[in-house]
Amino acid sequence: MEYEGRICRPPMERSSFMLPVMAGCSYNKCKFCNLFRSIKYRELPLSQIEEELIRVKNLNGNLSKIFLGDGSAFDLKTEHLLKILNLIHKYFPDCNCINMDATITGILQKTDAELARLYTHGIRTLYIGIESGLEDVLLFMNKDHTRAEAERAISKIQEHGYSFGAHIMTGIAGKGRSIENAEATADFLNRTKPIRVVNFSMFLHKEVPLYKDIRAEKYQAASETENLIEEKRLIELLGNETCPIFYDGFHDYLEFRVRGTLPKDREKMLKQIQAKIESYKPMQNDYAFVNGECTPSLEKSDGTGKVWKTA
Ligand code: SF4
Repeated sequence: MEYEGRICRPPMERSSFMLPVMAGCSYNKCKFCNLFRSIKYRELPLSQIEEELIRVKNLNGNLSKIFLGDGSAFDLKTEHLLKILNLIHKYFPDCNCINMDATITGILQKTDAELARLYTHGIRTLYIGIESGLEDVLLFMNKDHTRAEAERAISKIQEHGYSFGAHIMTGIAGKGRSIENAEATADFLNRTKPIRVVNFSMFLHKEVPLYKDIRAEKYQAASETENLIEEKRLIELLGNETCPIFYDGFHDYLEFRVRGTLPKDREKMLKQIQAKIESYKPMQNDYAFVNGECTPSLEKSDGTGKVWKTA
């Protein structure tokens, strides 16, 4: 199957077979996101999905774990999703773990009976773009949910046995709000108990609505130093002995990644972040910009609107 757009899946799904069932994101309105902005959303026909499963079967593939792409596959209508799951089990009866992204709206639109059926058909982990624990930030960024709705949706899927993986973004609250955002996000995550948290630290793109807000001075981006400080506070607060959380944090612009299980690896992770903060101080006015496709044409800004290429 030819893949349209960008391959986008959580790092812990690298070993899963990526089965596209839709192109683009059905929501596609988050202010900071450029993943599927240029792709017109559409569901892929079942015949095309089946062809792909047959192709892999004929190559003697033995799929036990599948990730359904793109955007938020769990938002598909339940009956359509069940048809896809049945096709998977037809060709790969041993496949017992099917994971995908979900939105809060998509979850809340499903009844308890639908959630129960989808679970018995093999869906196990849903990855949700939580982004921030601050209500005004969710609203400003045009996320599809409030904090209360997110808590309700997560508790609903957990009651049915699903695991929840959270995507968050340090820096999303903007300049001067790092600690506030870290504390609110940690509080949200400690309450909702994701098995994994992935932090794709804020990356600014010229082709998204947020960039217009920056130009219009409605939003001031946090610097990469602030993003590291925010991550440090988050790591200090996240997870406890009764609810350990695996954390994986990416700052692609700084080529820095910190990961481990909290609270077990807390001290080690804090030391890594502190060392990065100290080594990075001389360039503390850098902002993570990406122009067009992710890397390599990175640009830097001093926060005054002046933007220049580094490469
Ligand atoms: S962040 Fe997720 S839900 Fe929002 S537009 Fe991007 S892909 Fe869609």
